[in-house]
Amino acid sequence: MTTIGFIGLGNMGGGMAANLAKAGHTVIAFDLSGEALARAGAAGCTPVSDPVQAVSDADVIVTMLPAGKHVASVYNDTVFGAAKNGTLLIDCSTIDVDTARDVAAAAKERGLVAVDAPVSGGIAAANGGTLTFMVGGSSGGFSRAEPILADMGKAVIHAGDNGAGQAAKICNNMLLGATMAATCETFALAKKLGLDLQTFYDISSKASGQSWSMTSYCPVPGVGPSSPADNGYAGGFAAALMLKDMRLALEAAKANGARVPMGERAEAIYAAFVEADAQGLDFSAIITALE
Ligand code: NAD
Repeated sequence: MTTIGFIGLGNMGGGMAANLAKAGHTVIAFDLSGEALARAGAAGCTPVSDPVQAVSDADVIVTMLPAGKHVASVYNDTVFGAAKNGTLLIDCSTIDVDTARDVAAAAKERGLVAVDAPVSGGIAAANGGTLTFMVGGSSGGFSRAEPILADMGKAVIHAGDNGAGQAAKICNNMLLGATMAATCETFALAKKLGLDLQTFYDISSKASGQSWSMTSYCPVPGVGPSSPADNGYAGGFAAALMLKDMRLALEAAKANGARVPMGERAEAIYAAFVEADAQGLDFSAIITALE
């Protein structure tokens, strides 16, 4: 079994670290939050109060942090100075492609191996060990990361070189954000046209308008399989996190000269919704603003 340093024990990282401990690894865990540290201790990890202690004896370091600036600072200020030569660094946060590539290049210069491994699946999948990981890095880095990630997920896919995991994640989520916006406005139109929404679902879910946003995560309460819409749009994937991912996609599109007019329009819809929403509702709740 492996000694793993884990930094970032929030909504996602808490469950992921617990699953690594459950799989028999020694997990030395650090977070700025005392509450998160205590939860990790109760879940079988070894909590430490100094991030250097979490990384200095580790063979593998996993990070699950809010955004690119947190990742850059944890690696530059702690990991690079304290990790043993040859240590594998796995960043599972959703961040911009450039920061992921910069971290990987800086790691290589120091004799470390880095992969970016953002996840698909929310808090329930993190707790249940059923995440999907999309991994960017060398084939050697991927081979070393795969068994560790498999202890936290149901699928581990090599997307390409460093940064490719983040690229796949933000492309997927831009598509998801746009299809959910289209699904929401379509149901709002169907309602105005007097269609019974269950009947429209029965038709469109078997016709060419079908998408995951409709058939697995329908934004209309009582229609389709159970989804956050059936729970007042609580839980699920917060609209603010979707907005973060849409913005990462738009920044990447701008930096690389890609035209994404649908992505831009969808970003504006989520931005307006998040600004007005005090409850942190699921992203499918944008239907309530469109109705
Ligand atoms: P979170 O805010 O719940 O957790 C982040 C944790 O990082 C917090 O506990 C915070 O205290 C800690 N942290 C911040 N800076 C730190 C530092 N310098 N040192 C140590 N700890 C530090 O966020 P989350 O929901 O767990 O999301 C983590 C990442 O996963 C994000 O990049 C997010 O976009 C991505 N993600 C989230 C979901 C989801 O449903 N929540 C789904 C997929 C991907």
